[in-house]
Amino acid sequence: MEKIAFFDAKSYDRTYFDQLAPKAGLEIRYLETRLTPETAVLAGDCAAVCVFVNDELGEETLARLSEKGVRAAALRCAGFNNVDLNAAERHGVRVFRVPAYSPASVAEHAMALLLTLTRRTHRAFTRTRERNFSLEGLVGTNLEHKIIGVVGTGKVGTRFAGIARGFGAHVLAYDLEPKWGAGIEYVRLDELIRRSDVISLHCPLTPSTYHLLGRPAFHEMRDGVIIINTSRGALIDSEALLDNVKSGKVGAAGLDVYEEEADIFYEDVSSKVMRDDTLNLLLSQPNVLVTSHQAFLTSEALRAIAETTVDNLSRFFSGERVENELHNREPAPV
Ligand code: NAD
Repeated sequence: MEKIAFFDAKSYDRTYFDQLAPKAGLEIRYLETRLTPETAVLAGDCAAVCVFVNDELGEETLARLSEKGVRAAALRCAGFNNVDLNAAERHGVRVFRVPAYSPASVAEHAMALLLTLTRRTHRAFTRTRERNFSLEGLVGTNLEHKIIGVVGTGKVGTRFAGIARGFGAHVLAYDLEPKWGAGIEYVRLDELIRRSDVISLHCPLTPSTYHLLGRPAFHEMRDGVIIINTSRGALIDSEALLDNVKSGKVGAAGLDVYEEEADIFYEDVSSKVMRDDTLNLLLSQPNVLVTSHQAFLTSEALRAIAETTVDNLSRFFSGERVENELHNREPAPV
C-alpha cells in the first residue's frame, strides 16, 4: 500500500475516498490541518500528499516535502494557483490535478448566487421564519433580456453561459481563446465590463488576472452591476469592491471565493473575533452574499474528484503516464 497524507480533510471528503482508495492500493492518512511549510512534516513516511485549494505548495513546503521523500502532490481541484510548479519540478515533486469534475456544480452555484441576489430569497428566508410576510424591500429584477458578461468560457464558464441563455439573457463573453459559434457574443474585456448588467468570473487566477476587477474596472461598469465570483478571490480587489458596494455602483455581489479566504473559509470561526474588516463590512451588507468556497460541493462532484484523484495517484505509482499532470509551462501562479 502507498501512503498518502491527505491535508485539509473534511468529513465529506472521506465518503468517496474511503470507498475508492483501498481498491487502488492507497492508504490514506487524513489530516485536518492545511498543508503549509510548518505542517509539511506531517507527510513524513508518505509517498504523496493530497491537497486542496487553500493548501500552500510554495518553495518552502515543496522543499520540506521532498526532504521527507514525498514524490507527488495530487490536487483535489482544478485551479492550481496555490502551487509553485517551477519549485515542484526543482524538488522532484510531480503535481496532478482534477481538470474537470463537474462544471455543472460550479456553474449552477454561480446561478444560485445570482438568482438569490436578484430575487432576494436570502432575505425572504429569514423574514418568513420570523413570521414576517411583508414584501417591502424584496422587489427583484428579471434575468430575461439582461446582459450577462462571462469572463472565461472554459468548462464552467460555458456551462454558466448556457444556463444564462436559458433564462433569456444575452451573453457577452471574454476569453483569451474564444469558442466561436457557441451562441455567445465575444467582445473585448473593456467592452464586457462597460456593457454588462451582470459580470460572472470563470477564468483562472494568474499574474495577468490578479485584481482583474479593480478600481479602474469598477469605474467603467454600469450603475447597479451585479458581480458574481466562483473562480478565485484575488480576481477581485476586495477593498475596491467594498467601496463600490457602499457607493451603490455595485448593485449586488455574490462571492463564493475571497482573496484572503485561506484561514477563514472551510472553518467555523463563529466564536472568534474576525480581524478582516473588509470581509466584515462585505458580510454586513444586505446585497452581498458570501458562500464559503462551496461551488464544487455536490455529491456528483465529490465522487468525480475522488475517482480522478485516485486514478491519478494509482497511475503515477504504477509508472504510467498521468494525463492530468501539471507542467511548469502552465500559467505561473501568483
Ligand atoms: P477551464 O480551464 O476549463 O477554463 C478557464 C477559461 O479561462 C479558459 O477558457 C481560458 O482560456 C480562460 N482564460 C485564461 N486566462 C484568461 C484571461 N486572462 N482572461 C480571460 N479568460 C482567460 O477552467 P474551469 O474548469 O472552467 O474553471 C474555471 C475556474 O473556476 C478555475 O480556474 C477555478 O479557479 C474555479 N473553480 C472554482 C470552484 C469553486 O468551488 N468555487 C470549483 C472549480 C473551479
